[in-house]
Amino acid sequence: MKNATVKEAAISKQSYFTEEHQMFRDALRKFLEKEAIPYFEQWEEEGLVPRSFWKKVGENGFLCSWIGEEYGGIGADFLFTVILNEELCRIGFGLGGLDLHSGIVVPYINNFGTEEQKRRYLPGCMSGDIITAIAMTEPGAGSDLASIRTTAIKDGDSYLLNGQKTFISNGIQSDLVVVVAKTNPKAVPAHKGISLFLVESDMPGFSRGRKLKKIGLHSQDTAELVFENVKVPAANLLGEEGNGFYHLMKELQQERILSVVGAQVAAEEMLRMTIEYVKEREAFGLPIGKFQNTQFKLAEMATHVQIGRTFLDDLIVKHMSGEELQKEVSMAKWWISDNARKMAPECMQLHGGYGYMEEYKIARWYRDIAVVPIYAGSNEIMKTIIAKKLGL
Ligand SMILES: Cc1cc2nc3c(=O)[nH]c(=O)nc-3n(C[C@H](O)[C@H](O)[C@H](O)COP(=O)(O)OP(=O)(O)OC[C@H]3O[C@@H](n4cnc5c(N)ncnc54)[C@H](O)[C@@H]3O)c2cc1C
Repeated sequence: MKNATVKEAAISKQSYFTEEHQMFRDALRKFLEKEAIPYFEQWEEEGLVPRSFWKKVGENGFLCSWIGEEYGGIGADFLFTVILNEELCRIGFGLGGLDLHSGIVVPYINNFGTEEQKRRYLPGCMSGDIITAIAMTEPGAGSDLASIRTTAIKDGDSYLLNGQKTFISNGIQSDLVVVVAKTNPKAVPAHKGISLFLVESDMPGFSRGRKLKKIGLHSQDTAELVFENVKVPAANLLGEEGNGFYHLMKELQQERILSVVGAQVAAEEMLRMTIEYVKEREAFGLPIGKFQNTQFKLAEMATHVQIGRTFLDDLIVKHMSGEELQKEVSMAKWWISDNARKMAPECMQLHGGYGYMEEYKIARWYRDIAVVPIYAGSNEIMKTIIAKKLGL
């Protein structure tokens, strides 16, 4: 490894990427260097990634590249979604709203939508004209999704939607929200009464609550949403009535893999920047990377990062071949996000006082990474799934 770059030492090669994927990544990097990196700090300050950026990402063909040709897309494979996720996360988790849109929410429309819904929404989702969100969580229900209280009661050829959602990513800017609601609040078991709806932001009765202040992910808008007697046409039911919970479960595998991609990228970035830093910073006449404590810490971290990468790459390949991976994805979600979360204070410590300064990127990773063990199914919920799969 004598001539290897820091990056090559820190990150394993992902062999499944073809030349086409690499070209996509190169073009995306070039685009982001010009259109995102110079403005990212400003967006973090302003607490929002502007709509104009969404439009540029869309116009350049990077959003929802997996959408089929019949709807104007190029039918790209899942690795293009992974690349978008990796490159946006590398700049900062604040850009995660675009990943959520491109890799998680819009697939719901594609996978469960009617032909009319797909024709209506997919082209705009791809161009960046339509920003999407998914609203599951409520003030009183997060992990326990079956206990949500938002209702959508059939009323002629519409549903009357009432309820409140919170912590919704892209909440402020979204034009289209996949809302999880109970069409049968008395269903036993409760999850059988859940359905999904495509709610447009200009439907009367739909409003945004507070834009929530978070300790990290500053440029990602996260908000409360309120639905007061919103008349949602029956044509906006997404998938089958009463099957919403199963639709969500089906999509969770990809959602969780993408959240793991973000955590892994964060771990790799923290390792890379810390290796760079300890080579340059000197104390007692030596680069601090020459102290045994620094070397052991980074050797341990590099090992964990490598294990995480190997695990994740295996899951990505299996996911692409259509395997059901609930147990393995749950394992990766908790382990890889926990690894990244634990690395953040270690890397900050190795940066000394500079690590505590906003101008050093490790400070932002320290704040941002804490969310991954919480969302996309908390790490405790991941362990309950694994335990169930172990027959416990
Ligand atoms: C920045 C951010 C963005 C988000 N974006 C979205 C979004 O776009 N859309 C959306 O719908 N939601 C979103 N969420 C919500 C997120 O998915 C929930 O916060 C998460 O599911 C946890 O739910 P909760 O906050 O209600 O915590 P709770 O469910 O109240 O859990 C609290 C604690 O109890 C633990 N716990 C709960 N049940 C069990 C159990 N059975 N066994 C052991 N421990 C348990 C949890 O692991 C957690 O540690 C976002 C959250 C954040 C912070």
